[in-house]
Amino acid sequence: MRLDEAALDQSADDFGHLVHHRPWAVVEPGSVDDIATVVRHCQADGIPVAARGRGHGTFGQAQVAGGIAIDMASLRGIEVGADRAYVQAGVLWSGLLHATLPCGLAPPVLTDYLELSAGGTLASGGLGGTSHRYGAQADNVHELDVVTGTGERLTCSPRRHADLFHAALSGLGQCAIITRATVRLLPAPASVRRYRLSYPTLAALIMDQRTVVRDGRFDHVEGQVRPTGAGGWRYLLEAATFGGAADAGMPDVGIPDAGLLGDLSYTRGTEEVESLGYFDFLNRLAASVEDFTSIGEWARPHPWLNLLLPDSVTDGLVEDVLAHMTPADLGVSGVILLYPVRRRHLRTPLLRVPDEELAFLFALLKASSPGAEDPAAMVAANRTLYERARAAGGTQYPVGAVPMTHADWRRHFGAQWPRLETARRRYDPAGILTPGQGIF
Ligand SMILES: Cc1cc2nc3c(=O)[nH]c(=O)nc-3n(C[C@H](O)[C@H](O)[C@H](O)COP(=O)(O)OP(=O)(O)OC[C@H]3O[C@@H](n4cnc5c(N)ncnc54)[C@H](O)[C@@H]3O)c2cc1C
Repeated sequence: MRLDEAALDQSADDFGHLVHHRPWAVVEPGSVDDIATVVRHCQADGIPVAARGRGHGTFGQAQVAGGIAIDMASLRGIEVGADRAYVQAGVLWSGLLHATLPCGLAPPVLTDYLELSAGGTLASGGLGGTSHRYGAQADNVHELDVVTGTGERLTCSPRRHADLFHAALSGLGQCAIITRATVRLLPAPASVRRYRLSYPTLAALIMDQRTVVRDGRFDHVEGQVRPTGAGGWRYLLEAATFGGAADAGMPDVGIPDAGLLGDLSYTRGTEEVESLGYFDFLNRLAASVEDFTSIGEWARPHPWLNLLLPDSVTDGLVEDVLAHMTPADLGVSGVILLYPVRRRHLRTPLLRVPDEELAFLFALLKASSPGAEDPAAMVAANRTLYERARAAGGTQYPVGAVPMTHADWRRHFGAQWPRLETARRRYDPAGILTPGQGIF
């Protein structure tokens, strides 16, 4: 147990640097039994508890005022089987890949940034460039070991304590602390052919994203909206095909890829095509994180907003948002992500996704750089846009900075609210777990 200023300060902060709730103590568990013991004592005394993965939420989600923060980093065990890995909750996705890739295996879905904890992303969802094919990371879990809000250790799966399993995945830590997940693995590709294609208009990008996600020609599909430097925006399709070792040396220039790109309507001559190893591709954010850290951008406030928009409103809503935004509103290290996921592969009940065949992740990953709007105004703008998206049938992917009331959360979970509420009553009757989400 740590009571020193450094540990308390760290737990009272996160990637957002917007909310600061200081815990009373930080526990660095030596075992899962330590977590169960702490939670049992806290339950008896009504003391709030929150698991902290890497603290990469942006609005205090893993923080706990006057309670106990459990730093999951010490739970780093990994066992790799033939088609699955047994992963303790503090394991980072980069760490899991280091264990599985030598066995020729990898999880089907990875987040863009690999230095996030398994527990933190499974409690949220976990979306990435292969989500159009395999859903969220939470959709690729066979079984969970958890500690409930009463300090009980349970193993749950779709067949065993199914209510708990479905309340823990994308359940934002409200019913249990995930201690270990059995995660699906697939044969890992050896190489990646990566395409970055520029589009003249937003509508053209979205049209092609729909096409390639429906026909499945690419293994990885994402997209970005970037400032042009002249006050406007450019639209980028980021896609990749995965291949075997033999594909690793393919030429990087010219268009041997005409079969894949020929019918797409990107601006000819703008295509960037390269071949790279699978891990290098997955770890593609590492270099920019280093750059942004060195210029202090990584330490600035990050009032992020992550929306999931119904396909039918995406063109109009995104176009309108961009028309009223300037690159300065994004900050120096800010990024706008825009890419489709397929509803039918997103089966985790508590991950709330619009009810259409396709939904678009529209993520305004803003940084409050010098000269940008102040963070409080950015958070207020997030709330306004969230309400607009919600009125149009959208949801938020809840890892960003959006002030939410209890009533907002009920509306967010919609038809799934009774599932969460019932599980909360059963598995955390004292209501001590994960107050930073502000749900109950
Ligand atoms: C640079 C960056 C890139 C990102 N890229 C992606 C991306 O590509 N795709 C994506 O889906 N998300 C992405 N995210 C968002 C990220 O998935 C969430 O912020 C996630 O919650 C962070 O994981 P973490 O380990 O830091 O969790 P934390 O922020 O520590 O925790 C998040 C929430 O989960 C709870 N929690 C943590 N561990 C557990 C556990 N073991 N059991 C139960 N509850 C737990 C916490 O209490 C908190 O409420 C990104 C975030 C950043 C900062």
